[in-house]
Amino acid sequence: MKLTIYKKMMLGFLVVILLMTIVNGYILWELNSVTETTKSTLTSDVQVIDQAKQLSTYRYDEDLIGQKYFVAGDSVYYSILVDRARQFDDLEKELLGNLKVDSDIALARSIRDNHNRFRSIIERHRENVVNKVVTEEKFPAGPLVEISRGLEELIRSKQISIDNSMKAVGQTTGRSFNVAIILTICTLLAAVTLALIITQTLTKPISILKRGTEQVARGSFTQIPVTTADEFALLTQAFNDMSEKLKTVNERKAEMMQRISHELRTPLQAMLSAHFLLSEQRLGPINAEQASLLTSIRESIDKLTKFSNQFLDIAKVEAGMMEYSFEQVDLVKLISPAIDEAQLIAARKAITVDLTYTEVPTIVADPEKIGQIVNNLLSNAVKYTQKGGSVIVNVSPSDIGVRIAVQDSGVGIAPEDLTRIFTKFYRAKSATKTSVKGTGVGLALVKALTEGHGGVVSVQSTSGVGSTFFVELPRVPDRSVNRGHQQIRISQGQEVDA
Ligand code: ADP
Repeated sequence: MKLTIYKKMMLGFLVVILLMTIVNGYILWELNSVTETTKSTLTSDVQVIDQAKQLSTYRYDEDLIGQKYFVAGDSVYYSILVDRARQFDDLEKELLGNLKVDSDIALARSIRDNHNRFRSIIERHRENVVNKVVTEEKFPAGPLVEISRGLEELIRSKQISIDNSMKAVGQTTGRSFNVAIILTICTLLAAVTLALIITQTLTKPISILKRGTEQVARGSFTQIPVTTADEFALLTQAFNDMSEKLKTVNERKAEMMQRISHELRTPLQAMLSAHFLLSEQRLGPINAEQASLLTSIRESIDKLTKFSNQFLDIAKVEAGMMEYSFEQVDLVKLISPAIDEAQLIAARKAITVDLTYTEVPTIVADPEKIGQIVNNLLSNAVKYTQKGGSVIVNVSPSDIGVRIAVQDSGVGIAPEDLTRIFTKFYRAKSATKTSVKGTGVGLALVKALTEGHGGVVSVQSTSGVGSTFFVELPRVPDRSVNRGHQQIRISQGQEVDA
């Protein structure tokens, strides 16, 4: 049977409700037994005590009136006595009907026998009085004493019975309380365990899907295994279909980008050859104006070649085809030529380019790619810095390995652009407003190549003051590191996730 999330939750609720019903049922059952015991105690034992007390009162009256009758022999006393005796007998009969314990019944019978004895003596005495027979018969106090004793014993026995019933009620209540607490704790534990299991079945596939989504966002279109048979299985299947389609689209896009790049290279090569022939004056002499035109043609060819190369690199990165050849690298030594080259270009704008560094460990890196990263950052720093400005490159150790910082005193970048400048083809407002030309590909490549080493790129900038780009590289490349989002630091120290 397929246990969907809905079914799992319903099953969980049913189990908890069932447990609660069992607990409530048990408590009700115990309460009922306590009520029954209390009711029977009140209806029989208490009633018997009341009746016994009433019988004691009748017995007292009979004693009092009987003695008066024996002294006076008056018929009025006799008729009152007979009336009391009848009341005693009636009530005693009722009491006997209420008794259930054998010893109590025996007691009641002995009370009845003693009362019969008392009555027969009184009646005999009456007969003698009526027939004027003189007798020495005395008032029968003995049976009345026995009746008193019997009634007292009956009351005591019933009080003991009430005490025992109350004790039993107390014990039942205590036991029910303990069992109810244990059952309630068990129910709570079961509810918490079920809630945890249900939450686990919800959060586990969600976090797997989240990881999958992050991988897709990074351009890795892997498939997520379908491990459940519930609604998540459908979602995972839909995700895998989407990932597969995105992979195809991405491959086509990368293919297209590579083709465009190759298509650009062939005419560029032809233009370069033509430029070479013309500038070397192999086809005849050229004048100064033509030479100047050839220089600007060459600059455009170089720009187009650079763009085409970067475009191809981006395409390779996105298709997962970028190849790295790692080796032990002395970073300061490696980037020095790039600094020299930048100094030559920067000199045209009277910008100084300096290298500062502290002792850093050698790292394992692809020297060509590190060169590309530093060249791009340096070329941007010079490009976006006004005449007379300065660029400082600093190499220092960092937590994960080595950090390269490229700092300039240029136009800076607005906070709202900081999160977007690493996206390909994006150009910040500060750049588009100036006459500085660009394609918006350089930083995307810097980010991709740094992440290809398992490193991190970040930026700190203040509009109109300058920018510092940081590239942190690990000692040994760790390309499995999750680089799902870029950390961008802005000047105020605030951090923005890109
Ligand atoms: P571009 O070819 O436009 O320079 P990049 O990808 O190298 O493309 O840079 C993207 C954008 O980031 C640039 O258009 C510019 O707005 C901004 N940027 C890059 N480096 C700097 C810098 N050092 N100072 C100011 N803005 C910069």
